[in-house]
Amino acid sequence: MRVKRSAAATDPGRRRRHNEDAYVCEPPLFAVADGIGGAQAGELASRLAATALQEDSGPDGGDPRRHVDALIQEANRRVYERQTQDAAASGMGTTITVALVSGDIVWIGHVGDSRAYRVRGGELDQLTEDHSLVAELVRSGKLSPEEAETHPQRSVVTRALGTDPNVDVDTFEIEAKPGDLFLICSDGLTTMVDDETILGEIDRNRDDLRATAKALMRAANRSGGEDNITVVFFELEAGEQQQADEHTLALPPQQEQLASDEDTLDEFDGVKPIAVEEETPRARDRDRRHPLRRGFVFLTLVLVVLIACGFAVWGIWRSHFVGAEADGHLAVYQGIPWNVVGHVRLYRTVYESPLLASQLSEPERMKLFDHSLVTKSSALSEVHRYEREIGR
Ligand code: MN
Repeated sequence: MRVKRSAAATDPGRRRRHNEDAYVCEPPLFAVADGIGGAQAGELASRLAATALQEDSGPDGGDPRRHVDALIQEANRRVYERQTQDAAASGMGTTITVALVSGDIVWIGHVGDSRAYRVRGGELDQLTEDHSLVAELVRSGKLSPEEAETHPQRSVVTRALGTDPNVDVDTFEIEAKPGDLFLICSDGLTTMVDDETILGEIDRNRDDLRATAKALMRAANRSGGEDNITVVFFELEAGEQQQADEHTLALPPQQEQLASDEDTLDEFDGVKPIAVEEETPRARDRDRRHPLRRGFVFLTLVLVVLIACGFAVWGIWRSHFVGAEADGHLAVYQGIPWNVVGHVRLYRTVYESPLLASQLSEPERMKLFDHSLVTKSSALSEVHRYEREIGR
């Protein structure tokens, strides 16, 4: 099997100024890395990991599984070393999803919540399992897949590159057939568009992978573009892999950004909130009612609404839950763990811990992140207990 064609694209999205994603598209090696730990540090972590892969992307002589594992361990070593030496980079990490084509096999190495898919016969198969808080909650039955899609902590990863001297990597093989199309992407794509949209864009641009990649960027941006978006595509055909890959080492390591003028989304691509005019039958009947009666009904309504709001605020103010910030740090929140339509959070951070979600074991996370509403002191004491146990 050999790589017939490949393409990649990345875009910061509509809400972030930095692009913390990085990719490698150097047949037979492909990868996506999504940095975490705050703008600059996240950017550095994903770049360091991508560069580590690029510097060792020559044809492998030995066991490809070992090769993929070694590449990721080396990337981990570099990110970890940097973050322990450089205070500004402390706490950074990155996801990594690697694919290496070798004979009839595509070897996948994976840490974090970026994803690899195979497209075959009009179907999209997710090959990787997310190492994320919500994926764990879904697997343990505490959250439905639908709830996971809108969960405020859906971007918190439980396993990342660079946070520990050694990293636990999912490495496995996928049998490939001529015509198979593989997609590696960051969560900025998959949290914004569904499988049908991805398949639809692939179908519409079947002959041009680069156009498909750009179309997916646009689709994710149209749905909000809340995170950096990166996609890497490669398609396989029958034949031997050409051994002319050494020259790719000479390629500049810079990322290919979408040409800004061509792909800038105009206002019409944005999703505008639909303002529904309040022209209900009741509004039209209003004039026919007696003015006094109208006033009484109005006052009662206002009172009911005020009391309901009061109860809601009182409830939200009283309740606390444990979660994790986008950079992975444990936190205690006041409120209830949901976002209302888009970006209105019903909670606020009252305490951020130095402890990372990924430093806990999976059973510990399951227990801590069940999102039951508790008092502030019991939420805090639970977090402090883990801080003492893990000793940070
Ligand atoms: Mn991301």
